[in-house]
Amino acid sequence: MSSDSAKEIELEVRNLCKYFPVKHKGVLKAVDHVSFQIQRGETLGIVGESGCGKTTCGKTCIGMYEPQSGEVLYQGKNIHKMSKKERFELTSKVQMIFQDPYASLDPHQKVYDIIAEGMRIHKLVSNQSEEEKKVMELLEMVGLSAEHANRNVHEFSGGQRQRIGIARALSVEPEFLFCDEPISALDVSIQAQIVNLLERLKEERNLTMLFIAHDLSMVKHISDKIGVMYLGNMVEMSSAADFYKNPYHPYTEALLSAVPIADPDVAKTKKRIFLQGDVPSPVNPPKGCRFCGRCSKCMDICHETCPELKEISKDHWVACHLYDE
Ligand code: SF4
Repeated sequence: MSSDSAKEIELEVRNLCKYFPVKHKGVLKAVDHVSFQIQRGETLGIVGESGCGKTTCGKTCIGMYEPQSGEVLYQGKNIHKMSKKERFELTSKVQMIFQDPYASLDPHQKVYDIIAEGMRIHKLVSNQSEEEKKVMELLEMVGLSAEHANRNVHEFSGGQRQRIGIARALSVEPEFLFCDEPISALDVSIQAQIVNLLERLKEERNLTMLFIAHDLSMVKHISDKIGVMYLGNMVEMSSAADFYKNPYHPYTEALLSAVPIADPDVAKTKKRIFLQGDVPSPVNPPKGCRFCGRCSKCMDICHETCPELKEISKDHWVACHLYDE
């Protein structure tokens, strides 16, 4: 997918495939020929139901998985072909915020040590007082205070643990954050606080982000660009503004119809689209459009040929035969 070449491209994904063999069954095509770009300072939100491949895609993008085929270029370099030294540098430039703050932090470790560890590994501080100053600054930045530093992780709530996870990620001065459903394990009342925090940090530090979520209400405010994945394929991608105004793909329309609306008068006029059928198995998926069993607009061609992602209006990409010329 091409995009505005005047801006600097932070991450470029070209035709990425990540498959997993499944004993006696075949191959699970978790990510199948996915391409996109993220410009510096931009946030791409990727949404889709559980099992659509969004997290696998993100993990392959930051080098946690080796791809089947395709390329991931970070600042122009193929991350799967980097030298040991380059990979080490990448672990400071690219950081991850995990989905479950209960599982991603050692409950018996002190908050101070969790935040200081990365700085020590990457030699970002030269003495103890500099380290202490940086840890306290980071705690403050994520809405915690100095008094939290010497407490163990198990003493904190889910929202506070996610703030500690964010401080840990920021401690190595990253340029890119992969946020893997960072709010889905949190209470609804805390989710907005964490999204607002990430949004503020993105602005202050000019971070580039890949933000994974399972529904569109979670990515609405934080994303500059939104992509929708369905069974390993990217089926729609555009700027956030255009995405909410002019959705094209029937799956996107269904996802958007499920987004809650605060205004009761507007909500009354909105029609919810309920999808028919079940999600097919990602192991050996159908050869045509993977959404055809659930799509009310399915045509003969949809059973035969998998639609390609095509640009149907400026920077708005859709994979659906409804828009074939
Ligand atoms: Fe529906 Fe066909 Fe479009 Fe797939 S290609 S989303 S089945 S209309």
